[in-house]
Amino acid sequence: MTRIYNFAAGPSVMPQAILEQARDEMLDWQGRGLSILEMPFTGDDFKSIAGEAESDLRDLLDIPGNYRVLFMHGGATAQLSLVPMNLLGDKKTAATAAYADLGYWSRRAIDEAKRYCDVTLASSGKTLGYTDIPPPEDWKTDLGDAAYCHITSNETADGLELNWHPETGDVPLVADMTSNFLTRPINVSEFGLIYAGAQKNIGPAGLCLVLIRDDLLDRAHPMTPKVFQYGIQAENHSRYNTPLTYGIYLAGLVFRWIKDQGGMAAMERASREKSGLLYDLIDSSNGFYHCKIANEARSRVNVCFHLGEPALEAEFIREAGENGLFHLSGHKRIGGLRASLYNAMPHESAVALAYFMADFSARHG
Ligand code: PMP
Repeated sequence: MTRIYNFAAGPSVMPQAILEQARDEMLDWQGRGLSILEMPFTGDDFKSIAGEAESDLRDLLDIPGNYRVLFMHGGATAQLSLVPMNLLGDKKTAATAAYADLGYWSRRAIDEAKRYCDVTLASSGKTLGYTDIPPPEDWKTDLGDAAYCHITSNETADGLELNWHPETGDVPLVADMTSNFLTRPINVSEFGLIYAGAQKNIGPAGLCLVLIRDDLLDRAHPMTPKVFQYGIQAENHSRYNTPLTYGIYLAGLVFRWIKDQGGMAAMERASREKSGLLYDLIDSSNGFYHCKIANEARSRVNVCFHLGEPALEAEFIREAGENGLFHLSGHKRIGGLRASLYNAMPHESAVALAYFMADFSARHG
């Protein structure tokens, strides 16, 4: 069996040791004579699997006791609606929420929020062509009576990463961390709510992690389906209905794997090394490759770049495939090329891509 070098933006590469463990445990989990896929979610075995996953995640991020960890359905896209539905409350007059528009996924979140409330822009990268993040002094400081302020901490499609957080006073800060969750230490207590779709750094698509501060649990609009109310899922330990049992099991294996690798600091170091390798090569290619994103806003996990000669991009993709390097096309709305380098991406894969890029530019430059 040959495994490819997989640079997909999500679903993306998983740690091979975890795939092997899941394979070995597929038919018989720990001598119980059944697969996790066949295991009731109300039994002690599944409760202990989910409990361990949560406690490992709490250790990794040092999650304070007044935060709940929820395992939700519907990926991160569901949260684009569920955040307003759960946090705007039962406002009779027009409610407002603040959003930072930093790129493609910010705009998806804003479009969705506009269905429920007025949106004020806390910041926008539009005039910068989404090639940089507006500096803190350009962010709106008076957020009025906004119910929350939403940021996207890493723009997966554009290749931008936010390395600081805006001051929002009493307005709870909400972050879509789908693409850089668990890739660096964070201070959870700076946020009211964090959500992250699983298919990049956690595990299987469809699962979405939500970390929410206790005082925000009772603000749901009454029309919010019960299965999607944070308060109800928190009360029921994410088992109000049948949870994504297999996904939670895999997420638990990933959390344990991250701990074994050295935790958040090790993940951050590795992501800086892998992305640094590619950005250095791009910057020293005399324009053969270029990255439009300002240096300090460049994502460690989605390296987006272009060829100086765009007509060569199809050839780049073709030859990369011949060398076992796959899924390097940019996001369909952005174009260009993108190498996604999440936690499970081995360092050797980034090295293999850097070698290929150097060789490609030597032959076509
Ligand atoms: N937010 C961000 C930042 C993303 O990168 C993605 C997926 N690429 C989503 C939300 C949507 O996630 P899902 O497909 O799991 O709904």
